[in-house]
Amino acid sequence: MSKCNICPRGCGGDRSSGKLGVCNAPDEIFVAKTMLHTWEEPCISGERGAGTVFFAGCNLHCVYCQNKDISGGACGQRMTDDELEAAIFDLASRGAECIELVTPTHYTVALARLLRRIKPRLKLPVVWNSGGYESVEALRLLDGLVDVYLPDFKYFDPAVANAYSSAPDYFEIAGRALGEMIRQTGRPRFDGEGRMIGGVLVRHLVLPGHREDSFEILKYIAAEYGTDSVRLSLMSQYTPDFYIESGRPGDFKNLSRRVTSFEYDSVMRLAVELGFDGYFQRISSADRKYTPEFKK
Ligand code: SF4
Repeated sequence: MSKCNICPRGCGGDRSSGKLGVCNAPDEIFVAKTMLHTWEEPCISGERGAGTVFFAGCNLHCVYCQNKDISGGACGQRMTDDELEAAIFDLASRGAECIELVTPTHYTVALARLLRRIKPRLKLPVVWNSGGYESVEALRLLDGLVDVYLPDFKYFDPAVANAYSSAPDYFEIAGRALGEMIRQTGRPRFDGEGRMIGGVLVRHLVLPGHREDSFEILKYIAAEYGTDSVRLSLMSQYTPDFYIESGRPGDFKNLSRRVTSFEYDSVMRLAVELGFDGYFQRISSADRKYTPEFKK
C-alpha cells in the first residue's frame, strides 16, 4: 500500500515499503491482543465478554493514550487474513457476545475484505470501536459489514484537538463520520438479552479542564442527529498516569489530574437534559486497573 490515504490524515505513508505514515502501521495486519473483554459497556460485553481484537498502531496518538504500549506501531502478532479469521472464530467459540475490532481505522481496507468473507458465517454482531477520526469514503467500505459503531467523539475545540492529538480538524471529521455511521446502521437496536445488535454507541471521555468542550459535543450531536439516533457512553475514566508517564507532564497541567465530580456531573446533567439515553460511569472508574495489560 503506497501513498496511503485511508484515514483523514491522508499522510501518504508508503506502508508496503517501510516508510510508514502517522499510524506507524505497515500494510500487514498486526494484532496486539485478543481477549474476552468484560469491561466494555454492558450491551457490548454482556455476561461473557466482547470478543475483542486490539490492533497495533493508531492514527491519533493522543498525548494521554492509555494504550501506548500498542498504539505506537507494529507489535504483537502479524496475522494473515486466514489467521485473523481463525482468531475471530476462536473468540466466537469461547462464548464471545460480539466481535469487537478496536482501533481498526488504519486497517479499514483489509478488514472490509475480511468481513466480506466471514460475515455470512459469523453469527455475532460486529462492533467497530474507533477513535472517530475516519473518512466517510473509508467508512463506506464497511457498509453492511459492521452492525454496531462504537466511536469516540473526543473534541470540539480545534485548539484542544490540535494540542492533544495533532488533529485540529477532529470535530469536523468526527461529525461527518458519525453521520455516516448512523446512516449505515440506523437507530440503536438490542436483542432480548440487552445485547446491542445495531446502531451507534458514541463514547465521550470527559477530560479534566474541558467540560465546555463536552457541552458543545453533546449539543452538536443532539442538534445535528437527534438524541434518539445514538446511545451515549459518557466516560469519567480519564487516568492521568499514562500522560504523566509520557514524559510531558509540564505541557498540559490539567492532564495530570483526574476529572472532578463537579466536572463530570455537570456534563452528565446536560446529557440528561438533552435527552440522551445510555451509560454514565462512576468517578471510581478512573483507575488504570480497568486498562487491559498489553505487555504480558
Ligand atoms: S491510515 Fe496511516 S498511513 Fe494511512 S493516511 Fe492514515 S495515518 Fe497515514
